[in-house]
Amino acid sequence: MAIPKREMKCCNCGNYAGKFHQHYNRDTGFGICLRCVTDEIKSQGVETALSCYGVPGFNYPLVEVLTLRQAFTIGQYAKKHGVPENFNPFKFPGITAGALTQFDAYAAGFDGDSYENFSTTKLKLGA
Ligand SMILES: [Zn+2]
Repeated sequence: MAIPKREMKCCNCGNYAGKFHQHYNRDTGFGICLRCVTDEIKSQGVETALSCYGVPGFNYPLVEVLTLRQAFTIGQYAKKHGVPENFNPFKFPGITAGALTQFDAYAAGFDGDSYENFSTTKLKLGA
């Protein structure tokens, strides 16, 4: 059983940050709000955001991720860090952290043109 969710305060702006699982890199009771994490991803990149704040939808609100590559990065980080297999960091039904290998293979099967087009498509994760 995962650590229970709790009410979080944003470590950056101090606003309410939703009810999520505590991330080990933040002080107890502190997460990050949607607005701040979106800014962090834009300025620092998704890898930095994952390491500092954890997984969208698990440690903080679901964000609109920019590319398919970023979506992979998030899903693979989630798997590696023991976020439950059935956790879905994507808005697509059936695409869970546990299903990423299949999803990845699917994406790798694209030819150059369509992969490039697909990878730059904006994927909206979450509602
Ligand atoms: Zn904030």
